[in-house]
Amino acid sequence: MSEAVCLKDFKTEQDATITNYQCLVLGYGDRRKLHYEISSTTGHPHPSITANWAILGMLLPAMRTGKTLRCDHGVSALLLHFLRTDLQELLINFDPSLSRIDIDADALPPDLTVSKDIRIGTGFSAGIDSFNSLGVFCHSDTTSQLNVTDLFIFDVGAFGQHSSKSSRNSFTAAAGRTRSYADRLGLHAHSVTSNLADFYVGASELDFIRTHTLRNASAAVLFEREIDIYLYASAFSYREVDLKAKYALGHIDSILLSLITTTQLRFISSGAGSDRIKKTALLSNDKDAQHMLDVCVTPTPRRSTLVGVGRNCSRCWKCYRTMVTLDALGRLEEFRAVFDVDRYFQHREAIFSQVHHRGAKGSSIDQAAANLLLERGLAPSPPYTRRRSAGRSLPCAST
Ligand SMILES: [Zn+2]
Repeated sequence: MSEAVCLKDFKTEQDATITNYQCLVLGYGDRRKLHYEISSTTGHPHPSITANWAILGMLLPAMRTGKTLRCDHGVSALLLHFLRTDLQELLINFDPSLSRIDIDADALPPDLTVSKDIRIGTGFSAGIDSFNSLGVFCHSDTTSQLNVTDLFIFDVGAFGQHSSKSSRNSFTAAAGRTRSYADRLGLHAHSVTSNLADFYVGASELDFIRTHTLRNASAAVLFEREIDIYLYASAFSYREVDLKAKYALGHIDSILLSLITTTQLRFISSGAGSDRIKKTALLSNDKDAQHMLDVCVTPTPRRSTLVGVGRNCSRCWKCYRTMVTLDALGRLEEFRAVFDVDRYFQHREAIFSQVHHRGAKGSSIDQAAANLLLERGLAPSPPYTRRRSAGRSLPCAST
């Protein structure tokens, strides 16, 4: 058996509309290609010249094997330093089943060939964290220099396995939404598809929720010569940082992101100072959010059958949590375009009970939503009790 996972034969090909990156992966199961395909309103004029994308994408799979990760193409010096040191320590602390491995690669000299204006990117999936990221720098009213300029969407596992037809259809629809919203806001839009998810099968420790930050970062760094700052929308606030919450990598995002910064692209955990309630309150007055908010985890075809195209199923745990929060904020009526509000009020007690139950089982985000409804005196009759949730102060309904 090979003692190293080897990344080699790097190639980048471009035509008028598409940029393809690929490399060969040896020593990790069958010999296969890892590939990414970019479609961009800018034409992606400055392709990455590093192997940052491949080494970030393959770090966790390689740490599962315990083998050396060898890369025959250069990596940014800052990233290579952290790959060999603190990044692995943080990941092993998060998931003790991972092994410390050697990283065999060369550091590239600084790339000084691209001068550019400040460009700030963020992912856009029309979820609560997406809308929050879009406005994160506006809220401080510091300077227009920090406005988001580019929206991204990545197919690295969030839509299911890359090879399935339903996954491709879901991604195509989501990418179209990102593109049209960017057009409306006057922003650039970029989508990336990849077979990276094929390298994350076979172990529950590699499930998307435990690995998403590194997967998405591997796609984002392809734009390191265009984008200066990438706002990574984390579901968890600073108060929810938990270095050992093995079930969800997002709990360590605010630390992890500083360690995958490259020489040219800085990752920031956007909105980590706000919890889910504050983020929901901020978007609740946003007309775009009222017609586009998409939090649902039910597959798109099933959603269409239940409530019609483009709407949230209004029946899954994530819909329930969001509807309870909007109800508590007094803003649910404004979201009729995307939620089945009538059904919610018909079943309010049962829905609240489910959110409360998830909170009691340990979900701090559900607990906060249930607590807010209790505080506002809108929850169904007792025996429900308010439980502590991460020491958060509750925002006003008018925020
Ligand atoms: Zn749903």
